[in-house]
Amino acid sequence: MPITANDPQRRSWIQVNKDSDFPIQNIPFGVFLTRDDVITIGTRIGDTAIDLGALHQLGYFEGIPLTDDIFLQDSLNDFISDGKKTWRLVRNRIAEIFDINNPKLKDNEEHRRIVLFTLDEIEMQLPVQIGDYTDFYSSKEHATNVGKMFRDPENALLPNWLHIPVGYHGRSSSIVPSGIPIRRPMGQTLPPGTDTPLFGPSKRVDFELEMAFITTDANQLGEPIPVDEAEDYIFGMVLFNDWSARDIQKWEYVPLGPFLAKNFASSISPWIVTMDALEPFRVAGPKQSPAPLPYLQYSGNKSFDINLEVSLAPENSEPLTICKSNFKYMYWTMAQQLAHHTVNGCNVNSGDMMGSGTISGPTPDSYGSMLELSWSGKKPLKMKDGSERTFIEDGDTVTMKGYCQNNKVRIGFGEVSAKLLPPFSEKKKNGDR
Ligand code: CA
Repeated sequence: MPITANDPQRRSWIQVNKDSDFPIQNIPFGVFLTRDDVITIGTRIGDTAIDLGALHQLGYFEGIPLTDDIFLQDSLNDFISDGKKTWRLVRNRIAEIFDINNPKLKDNEEHRRIVLFTLDEIEMQLPVQIGDYTDFYSSKEHATNVGKMFRDPENALLPNWLHIPVGYHGRSSSIVPSGIPIRRPMGQTLPPGTDTPLFGPSKRVDFELEMAFITTDANQLGEPIPVDEAEDYIFGMVLFNDWSARDIQKWEYVPLGPFLAKNFASSISPWIVTMDALEPFRVAGPKQSPAPLPYLQYSGNKSFDINLEVSLAPENSEPLTICKSNFKYMYWTMAQQLAHHTVNGCNVNSGDMMGSGTISGPTPDSYGSMLELSWSGKKPLKMKDGSERTFIEDGDTVTMKGYCQNNKVRIGFGEVSAKLLPPFSEKKKNGDR
């Protein structure tokens, strides 16, 4: 079935600014609370949010096999379970409804009043109920940089790294939508040169520039997903800030890997951009040498050209762009990650989320974490207000943006932005902070 929603010539009767991340060719999916305190599934064109629950009740999805309440839900999980064919039919229909040449909704003021919202009339929620969250470690540059700093500069990449899309099971309870402030975590650290750990606020809170993909029900327990089928089970992607506490990480991570240094918070952008919308931006992944084992070998272009950037704003100061990277730098593709994840028969469900791992590029200005940008605190970054940063300070806001662009269309993700607050224990002592 063709993806008619991707037609670059199509224009909408909803006004869209030229540099918008959300032209009619995007049609992402999200969940929001409306001005009437109703929770619904929606999409967005330009700066207009569209209530898909209301649109469905008014009959605009007639002919597409959907249950009556499919969009009147607080998560996209059931819709995602309906599978790729339904996602495509719905996206194609939305493109038709909002096409500049279609008067049906455009000329129906009563329906427009029910269905359309300005962004300040809605509050974005988590788009899916995330059952399981897995985080990969798939940027060669990032793994090399961290290996140099945490272990051995001579053998930065461990012997398994070029053979396995390395990952770990994270925690879904602490994944929050953009805008929710994050508290500096407390924990155990081992101060340099000592052998007795201390307990206190992390002194090395960091961001990780990642993207995450969201799956549909992919397989039964025991059944692997072949690498060339894996993309059929990926609904879409979001921006993902995997907040990390480097000093806690360094002390705790041996031998079982990340734990409390990583599970205190991860922030996501609230609109899921579908793989269908990203189709025009396929590119080849990096050449893999040595060749991976056969179950990880794939055909075609399975990486995506997505520009990424991170800015840091101290409290009451202008944001400064501190990193520009690209999703295409990832060594392992999402298809390989999902094939590897299920090769042992591990089952994947609708609404599961898989983080890419920090996306660092080849040059120092493309490093996707403060750990790398400040090279473990040795090279402070100068902010616009004159202050210096090696890691994230209380009151700082970290914002990540991402978009794809060719000469016909720009498809973006909006942003994921969150402020770091002082630790919870200090809030109690100091009163209202
Ligand atoms: Ca991570």
